[in-house]
Amino acid sequence: MLNDDYICNAKIDLHMNLHEYQGKEILSSFGVRIQRGLVASSASEAVNAAKQLTAETGTSWHVIKAQVHAGGRGKGGGVKLAKNLNEVETIAGQIIGMNLITPQTSAEGKKVHQVLIAEDVYYPGESEPDEFYMSVLLNRSTGRNMIMYSTEGGMDIEAVAEKTPHLIFNEEVDPSVGLLPFQARRIAFNLGLSGQAHKEMVKFVMALYTAYSKSDSSLFEINPVLKTSDNKILAVDAKVTIDDNSLFRHKDYKDLRDLREENPIEVEAGALGLNYVDLDGNVGCMVNGAGLAMATMDLIKQAGGEPANFLDVGGTADAARVEAAFRIILKDPNVKAILINIFGGIVRCDRVAQGIVDAYKNMGDAIKVPIIVRLQGTNADIAKELIDNSGLDVQSAVLFQEAADKVQAVLS
Ligand code: GDP
Ligand code: MN
Repeated sequence: MLNDDYICNAKIDLHMNLHEYQGKEILSSFGVRIQRGLVASSASEAVNAAKQLTAETGTSWHVIKAQVHAGGRGKGGGVKLAKNLNEVETIAGQIIGMNLITPQTSAEGKKVHQVLIAEDVYYPGESEPDEFYMSVLLNRSTGRNMIMYSTEGGMDIEAVAEKTPHLIFNEEVDPSVGLLPFQARRIAFNLGLSGQAHKEMVKFVMALYTAYSKSDSSLFEINPVLKTSDNKILAVDAKVTIDDNSLFRHKDYKDLRDLREENPIEVEAGALGLNYVDLDGNVGCMVNGAGLAMATMDLIKQAGGEPANFLDVGGTADAARVEAAFRIILKDPNVKAILINIFGGIVRCDRVAQGIVDAYKNMGDAIKVPIIVRLQGTNADIAKELIDNSGLDVQSAVLFQEAADKVQAVLS
């Protein structure tokens, strides 16, 4: 009964999201043309950034863009055009410190700490500027990277997919040869480009794919890719997500993580070496192994509850780790019960049971919710005895169904 939903909703494979300005720096380092900009954390820094950009690019108009981990910033008032330095100062002052609410944030919005001051690239010229959509991602059903692109850039790609799906194209990449030039030419052609713009798009796409694979990213979303009125192709926006598992070979990317953008409990759990993902439900889970964690979340659903978190304590479920896990789970005020579901393979169940009992005792009366423990595997019977004789408010279960019934009983 493994439920795919959880695999997506719980974001179990971990990724590091970047700010637009950081993503653009990575793109640029691989030769992808970008809308140039400088980041600023105050109105006066913004003015200096604008002056510097004007000196480098010659344009005196700038866009001021809120740097938060959420899209749809334009709609929420987080992207604004400034036509002189006074406007740069005023607008930057308004956006920095604001709580930006966009279709992709929660109702409370996200606090803006920094803005990107970028050159205006929508200047009028011999032709109209044109906005495209382009992303690079893994197609999980074919196991290949693909470039997804559309003539309908600058807006919600979900809306395009719904209303005009025939305007979204895919180009799959054969991993043994990488992206080939004819594929980049096909993309440029499907986007309706010819002449100089076509050539520029081919270069853009080739560089973009190189950047994606060399940076070990798991998602690039460039919306819009712009054709300027003088036929340059450049990235105006950049959503870049790096695969966490690759960070060991990109030591310099580690500093790009902005913990202010992440869930504070998840950050704390990460520091303790626990694999924790916060969810909306009412039953806390403590499990060893990601597969068992997902099965356990399904079990909770079946019992009429909703998982409050995904938590994998890993191979060593000793008292210290169990206690750390208890403390993390209990930070979530919605937790009404905790289900511990551990398979004792290499780590014996009786040792885990002892860990649970010791951690529980150590925490005094900090634990105010019922706990249901299911230990299965080596020495499971001894473990059950240990739990049952501990005198603590912990119920033990042997079978999955038994555990589900007990969860149901404490919730009702
Ligand atoms: P998002 O709303 O979070 O996706 O942020 P984007 O970076 O995509 O910017 C939103 C919109 O701002 C774009 O679709 C453009 O229409 C507009 N925009 C971005 N850069 C410029 C610029 O240089 N000049 C002008 N006039 N508009 C821009
Ligand atoms: Mn965008």
